[in-house]
Amino acid sequence: MKREAEIVVIGSGIMGSSIAYNLAKAGKEVVVLEQNEICSGTSSATAAWLWPSDKTPEHYGRLAWHSMEIYKNLEEELGADFEYTITGSLELIWTEKQIESAKKLIELEEKLGHEVKILTQDETIKMEPVINPNVLGAIYCEEDGNLNPFLLVNAYIQAAKRHGAEINTNTKVQDLIVKGNSIKEIVTNKGSIKPGLVICAAGMYSKELAKKIGVDIPIHPERGFCLVSERLPKMLNTTVCGARQTASGNIVFGFVKDTVDSIDRKMYSRGMQMAANDIMRDMPSLGDINIIRSYTGIRVIPDDKFPILGPSEIIDNFWLSVTHSAVVFNCALSEIIVQLVNGERDTDSIPYYAYKRFIK
Ligand SMILES: Cc1cc2nc3c(=O)[nH]c(=O)nc-3n(C[C@H](O)[C@H](O)[C@H](O)COP(=O)(O)OP(=O)(O)OC[C@H]3O[C@@H](n4cnc5c(N)ncnc54)[C@H](O)[C@@H]3O)c2cc1C
Repeated sequence: MKREAEIVVIGSGIMGSSIAYNLAKAGKEVVVLEQNEICSGTSSATAAWLWPSDKTPEHYGRLAWHSMEIYKNLEEELGADFEYTITGSLELIWTEKQIESAKKLIELEEKLGHEVKILTQDETIKMEPVINPNVLGAIYCEEDGNLNPFLLVNAYIQAAKRHGAEINTNTKVQDLIVKGNSIKEIVTNKGSIKPGLVICAAGMYSKELAKKIGVDIPIHPERGFCLVSERLPKMLNTTVCGARQTASGNIVFGFVKDTVDSIDRKMYSRGMQMAANDIMRDMPSLGDINIIRSYTGIRVIPDDKFPILGPSEIIDNFWLSVTHSAVVFNCALSEIIVQLVNGERDTDSIPYYAYKRFIK
């Protein structure tokens, strides 16, 4: 491991790997420190939908669609297939109230230049025959899709390496030594490194790390549960809110939210039951398929829901990259990080995402 580096990125999930790649491509000297293997945190336990069409309000929706624009050429740019698939999305409608909020979403998306529509019951079943025939309808956007998060992270990491980044796995950041107002040394189980800039992309562990140096990150954890089916013939035509079928045929179910106060990723029967209940409500005809795997993941939810990006303000060389929905947003967020690092923009240009919005 290098003992000194211009930029040290902590974490190699979707955010850390995306940032490492983009900074290395921009000519920066980058070292990544990952406590486990690459893509072993929340990015390994995600549903991995590319679902920009439900991101509100307007600034957040724009950011999501900008990220999707970058995705269009990303497999080619990274030289790797990460099963990026635009399938169209269906969010099932069960109540009249959902129809009212869908109408507002349609207006917003129209303003952003994207089409979202409400499908009738018949149109929904025709598009996705496994859906419960009692559904009222669905919100549909043909531009949404999904990907394989392991392949995406691996693609970023390999491309970052080609641009000279050093990736250290099984290297846990244990301490951050601050002198004056900046981090002088990062202590890991494999020795220390002197950083120029430190970018904390440690997902759910970011709060604990930042606390060591007096930075309070206003985020809270939420647990999600996923179930994975056996390999099946093609059964889903779209990414349904709650299920996607992978390139190899497995269906990944799950989007249940459970607000929790710890960040452990234990699976328990109540969680599995909640995920199974959702399947039975939405796609009862899939009730007999075999489930071969289950997992939990911790979503990091910023208190105002928006990404927390860039300088921590309190420690000069400690920056943050903490967000949920990173599958959708990573391309746009890492582009912003590169622009901030290069001095091509400042945090006034990201009022909704800069940490300083929390400083009274
Ligand atoms: C069930 C579920 C479904 C989801 N579905 C979607 C979806 O459909 N679409 C979407 O866009 N988003 C979705 N998300 C959210 C998305 O998965 C996350 O936003 C994303 O994975 C976060 O990536 P990250 O890189 O910030 O964090 P992580 O993937 O958690 O990466 C952080 C990394 O930092 C490492 N690390 C932590 N502490 C240290 C340390 N001290 N030293 C060294 N390394 C350290 C960890 O080991 C980890 O690898 C979902 C999340 C869950 C849980």
